Amino acid sequence: MRKSYDNINNKFPTKDITPDDISNKIKLVSNKKRKKNIKIKKNLGFSNKCIPLICGPNGLESLKLGLSFAKFINKLNLNFMRVHIFKPLTFPYRSRQYSEAGINGIEWIKEIRKQFPSMVLICEITELQHLEILAKNVDILQIGTRNMQNFELLRECSKSKMPLILKRHFGSSIRDLLGAAEHILLDGNDKLILCERGIVAPHTHRDTSRYMLDIQSIPAIKEITNLPIISDPSHASFWAPWVTPLAKASIAAGADGLIIESHPEPSKSKVDPLQPLNYNEFKKLLISLKKIAKADNRQII
Ligand code: PEP
Ligand code: MN
Repeated sequence: MRKSYDNINNKFPTKDITPDDISNKIKLVSNKKRKKNIKIKKNLGFSNKCIPLICGPNGLESLKLGLSFAKFINKLNLNFMRVHIFKPLTFPYRSRQYSEAGINGIEWIKEIRKQFPSMVLICEITELQHLEILAKNVDILQIGTRNMQNFELLRECSKSKMPLILKRHFGSSIRDLLGAAEHILLDGNDKLILCERGIVAPHTHRDTSRYMLDIQSIPAIKEITNLPIISDPSHASFWAPWVTPLAKASIAAGADGLIIESHPEPSKSKVDPLQPLNYNEFKKLLISLKKIAKADNRQII
């Protein structure tokens, strides 16, 4: 940790977290007295013992896909499912292929909930106007990498008291991520889960590796906060064959949960078809993750 430069007012340019940050800028985030457990529903939540495996297709493409995916993971005794109906894209041109369900997808979410009432549903929120309806119909709101510092969105999501997943922006330092987290805690919501999803770095080996999963951020973040930190190797690697080893490495490094994309026919996935695991790959990964978790006295849920 860099020593504090007490005599320099404010703004010393650094990526590192100083003792001054800890006592003045991220004092809620860095409070290690905060309870670690975040209960989501019934006996499901984030804790030292449980590792939620959040899975699903990139986007909720249809009700049929949503229901069949829910059925698939229900049989595997998994409980946390992505139901993303809003998909921010880097470029504004949405081909028919790269479509998103949009607000009409709420009806699909309601039906999935009706048929799988104990399932924990996660959806990204991209606009404040959707907060109320999403809060009514899902269990966790995800704030995507591109909105990490959209402070108004953070503040309103915090006030909703919904459990939140805050993804690290791909260009941000851990300090910036924790600063954004402090905004959320300050508004009174401490059901907050942080997510490492890959950062910008020179391409590693092939240009499908769009981002680099910063596994080191997991222990680094744990040094400072006891907010859960989960890992999303799907969005980091962009490349299904690398998702399995990176998921295993994340759990071994102490991640408190995972986001894994899976799709019955990955090549037909409407968004990012290179990154979802097919069902067999997913089942195989689950077997390995259970072993790694067990070695650490933890459990995949
Ligand atoms: C996602 O999880 O679907 C997503 C868009 O993630 P990110 O914000 O990390 O790109
Ligand atoms: Mn995505």
